[in-house]
This record gives sequence, C-alpha cells and structure tokens, in this order.
Amino acid sequence: MNTIILHSQDQQLATQISEKIAASVEEKSTHFRLHADYSAPLDDLRDEFRVDINYLPAFDFSKAGLFVSDMDSTLINIECIDEIADFAHLKPQVAEITERAMQGGMDFSASLIERVALLQGLDIAVLSRVYVERLKVNKGGEALIQFLKTQHIKTAVVSGGFTYFTQRLAQDIGLDYNRANTLAIEDNRLTGKVKGGIIDATAKAEFLAELCAKHQILPHQAIAIGDGANDLEMMAVAGLSVAYRAKPAVLEYADIVINYGGLDIMVDFFEE
Ligand SMILES: [Mg+2]
Repeated sequence: MNTIILHSQDQQLATQISEKIAASVEEKSTHFRLHADYSAPLDDLRDEFRVDINYLPAFDFSKAGLFVSDMDSTLINIECIDEIADFAHLKPQVAEITERAMQGGMDFSASLIERVALLQGLDIAVLSRVYVERLKVNKGGEALIQFLKTQHIKTAVVSGGFTYFTQRLAQDIGLDYNRANTLAIEDNRLTGKVKGGIIDATAKAEFLAELCAKHQILPHQAIAIGDGANDLEMMAVAGLSVAYRAKPAVLEYADIVINYGGLDIMVDFFEE
C-alpha cells in the first residue's frame, strides 16, 4: 500500500484525485492522505491539478533532529547577489551567471568569484537596503520554523550567498545556526572579493554533517531543503531531501517536491 499526501484541505479535490487513481481517502487535520495499491504518477497529478502531492517517504519524522535550509529562492524570495548587483546596474549580467550556476551548468565557486568581482566598489549600505527593501521570507517559512521548534528540531540556514543576510535572517526568524560566504569590505565598500573559504555544494554538505555531529544526530535524521544544484550534496547526506520551487536537477533528485504551497506544508508529514 502506498500512502500519498495531498497537501490540500479541498475535499472535492481529494475525491477527484482518489477516484482517478483508485485510492481510499483519509482526512487529516491539515491535509488528506490517499492510500493506493499501486504507484500513482505524481508528476502527472501535480501538473493536472496544480497541487502539491507527495508520497509519504520512508523517513521517521518523529526522530527528525535537524532541518537545514538553503536561503536564496528557498527560505527567502530573492537571490541576494542579483539584488546587490542591481544597485551597481549590473543585475542582468549577474543574474544570468546565478541562473546558470543554480541549474548546475557551471562551477559554483568560479561563478561566485566572477559575480562578487563585479560588485567591487559598492557602498556596503546597499546590503541593508537589499535586506530591508527586497528580502522577504517565503510563504510559510516562519510558521515552519516555529513548528520545528515545537518538535525540538534544530534549524539552520546555509547559503552560497553572504553572511550579512544569513546572520540577520537567522536572528529575525529564530534559526539556530547559519553559514555563508563573507564579503570582504574596505572603507565601507565591497572589495570584490570573498573572505575565507567559499561555501559551495561540498561546504553546505559539510555544515550539515558538522551540525549532526555537534548534536549527536544521525545524518539520516536530518532534513535538507533547497532549490539549486549546489544543494544536491547536502541533500545526499540528509535522510530526507525537499525541493522547493526547484531547478530540474533538484526536482528529479528530491524525496519531496513543493511547487505550489508554502514551506509549512512540511508540517503535514509530521502528523501521525
Ligand atoms: Mg537557492
């Protein structure tokens, strides 16, 4: 028997989909569960009904201990570096490189060095303007973090972006840990360089493993969520991977797919 989570409270939709795939319907407090004898084609159902629908994965949610999220375009609405570049009138150039890197079409570290170099000379006041004027937590993000706290799950954000944003975001929404790249600054201007090691795909995976070790959590009790190619390595280490409005490579890899709803549809999986 396969259990399918329909991330919706629409009774009519539950009936319609259950009839289509010959499944029985179980109503839960926040969603429906469909029980089918065979594997239903979820991609087709997602496209047809424009709703999030996932198999209940073989992951013990009651033992989850760590939640690690990518930041840009996952936990928040923007790619910070593209918005910083906008203040230098270089957004199209930088965004084009970001897009290629997130699709997995180029080496992440090389792409970061190239993009940060374009920011040389910018007044650091733009960082605050990006945070205050453009950065928003994606739908359901704060509700999800609050929920995870009630489950005593440690929360972290890790980013190929910058510490200026991860630190501020962690403080604002109550994340336990954050890690990202540090922009080098001289005389209140960006030097166009990154200080210290680059947080690439491997460094993201290492951060997840490091937090597991610190809290004596097994990696298979960790959840990783992201949208870009540089999230795949940490997803491979975690016991559960979640694609949030993700690039094709991530969609294909992840255990759970969120394309329509908010981040807090993750709560559905925790119900007994
Ligand atoms: Mg991202």
